[in-house]
Amino acid sequence: MVTPVRLVDHHVHTTYSDGLATPAEIAARAAELGLAGVATVDHLAIGPYNDEPGYSIEIARIDEYIAAVRAADGAHPGVRVLAAIEVDYGPDTIDEAAALLAAHDFDFVYGSVHFIDGRVVDTRASLQGSLWVDVDAVYRRYFEVVAEAAATGLFDVIAHLDLPKKFGHRPRDPEAVEAALARALDAIAAAGAAIELNTCGWRVPAGEAYPSPAILAQAAGREIPLVLGSDAHRVDEVGADFDRALAVAAEAGYDATLRLTDGELEAIR
Ligand SMILES: [Zn+2]
Ligand SMILES: [Zn+2]
Repeated sequence: MVTPVRLVDHHVHTTYSDGLATPAEIAARAAELGLAGVATVDHLAIGPYNDEPGYSIEIARIDEYIAAVRAADGAHPGVRVLAAIEVDYGPDTIDEAAALLAAHDFDFVYGSVHFIDGRVVDTRASLQGSLWVDVDAVYRRYFEVVAEAAATGLFDVIAHLDLPKKFGHRPRDPEAVEAALARALDAIAAAGAAIELNTCGWRVPAGEAYPSPAILAQAAGREIPLVLGSDAHRVDEVGADFDRALAVAAEAGYDATLRLTDGELEAIR
């Protein structure tokens, strides 16, 4: 008998940051989809990383956010709802972020790199200016900052590992970014962090989940645990493309995904 796969969506944004659905609406949708759980992961971006109104949770509302998620947990039998946070990593704000993490009862913490050296890589604004003149340099620097983020030891999961591909920019010479990528994966493994298979990549010009199958295979080779996340900002994106994600993960060499609701590995084949 085949046991049905009990999946968790580890990456959903709510109205407390830039998502459009409340924790209660997200929990209801997870129940409808038959997910074992869902984690709300709102953005926490400090100072220069909070570059758009409404992008980050307001620090004064973190307790209210956690309470809203706790209220949604238990509203639907069989669906665990966790309160997590997606921290925008930056070397100049990480101490303040660490203090906020220590002061609040988050179930787990995502570390995300959206900026390299003060320049955003994943918004339309990044398409202006000279950032993409040297695509390989963007990737190298991105992976260096990811390694730095992982080495803080603050993060349970490192988000969207190859985010610079969002608008279709691919390394011109994959060999030129290989060493930086390897160091990022080594740092993640050394920190004992997981990575995510983020299905949002299928909804943007990249047309491929984050990270790419090639990076996923390297992560699998290092036995870095893998969680699934949709990066949903709307109710109808919760659990999006998880079937496809499982196939990609299996193809890359993963036998199981990690479920942070109970810390168990869920076999995918
Ligand atoms: Zn992100
Ligand atoms: Zn996100």
